[in-house]
Amino acid sequence: MTAMLNVRDLRAYYGQVQALHGLEFDLQEGSLTTLLGANGAGKTTTLRAICNMVRSTGSIEFQGTKLSSRSTESIVRLGIAHVPQGRGTFTTLTVHENLELGAISRKDRKAIPGDIERMYAHFPVLKQRHTQQAGTLSGGEQQMLAVARALMLRPRLMLLDEPSFGLAPLVVRDLFKILGKINREDKVTILVVEQNAQLALELADKAYVIETGRIVMSGKADDIANNEDVRKSYLGY
Ligand code: ATP
Repeated sequence: MTAMLNVRDLRAYYGQVQALHGLEFDLQEGSLTTLLGANGAGKTTTLRAICNMVRSTGSIEFQGTKLSSRSTESIVRLGIAHVPQGRGTFTTLTVHENLELGAISRKDRKAIPGDIERMYAHFPVLKQRHTQQAGTLSGGEQQMLAVARALMLRPRLMLLDEPSFGLAPLVVRDLFKILGKINREDKVTILVVEQNAQLALELADKAYVIETGRIVMSGKADDIANNEDVRKSYLGY
């Protein structure tokens, strides 16, 4: 596998506050990677820096293209979809309309209905609710819609910020199963930021641990899950 995304010496700032301190990591094409860390460690900021939504220095290369001078919109057009924390669906539009909007920047209009059907196959509950306003969906359904809408861009890389946030454990399991399927079958490379370390490590093949804006550990998800420090700090046993 070749690296799809290379991050080197990434530093990010909110005014005078420095949130990332020389972060370095790679994402292999086709991988499902999790970035674990406590509250305030810099997980959200890392995803925002990749999308150029926060002031940063250092180098981020996606498939050989430098992202630093590009707008968020042009980064999306390169094939990077970002599902922010708190979902971000259009609450007054229907499920179907949200999916159509997800594809708004695509030129291959003819392929869109087929892709919507594929999303309904991944997320049958969205098909059942396709005429319902997004704002009336449950939290889990809204999270599924947010993921499906991001996938309507046909991204090469999907960045997910705490998809498990606020969801019941069974719903999280369902969602994570679908993410695994999307990674394997649709060949979407995934970076998922999580506080639910246990589930994230079951899902991912590679993991990074971030503490106060720096990567402090990396490896295969299985090895990270068996690491004593990780077990104590993030898994609670
Ligand atoms: P959480 O899991 O709580 O979302 P996180 O790992 O995603 O945490 P970030 O949100 O990336 O952490 O925050 C990293 C650091 O940057 C924290 O110290 C936070 O207080 C600071 N920070 C984040 N957003 C801002 C902001 N808009 N203004 C100032 N400081 C910020």
